[in-house]
Amino acid sequence: MLDTEVYSCNSCNGWMRKDFASSDLKCPLCGDETTAEMRELPEIL
Ligand SMILES: [Zn+2]
Repeated sequence: MLDTEVYSCNSCNGWMRKDFASSDLKCPLCGDETTAEMRELPEIL
């Protein structure tokens, strides 16, 4: 597991890795604002 910076949605359970975030940092599911946070996620190889 790896501490990974992600953007999580303020409204739904949607989130995205920083590395794959959309340029506007909006939620990929509902389009709302997201908040940066750290999560432990499996490393992408
Ligand atoms: Zn959302």
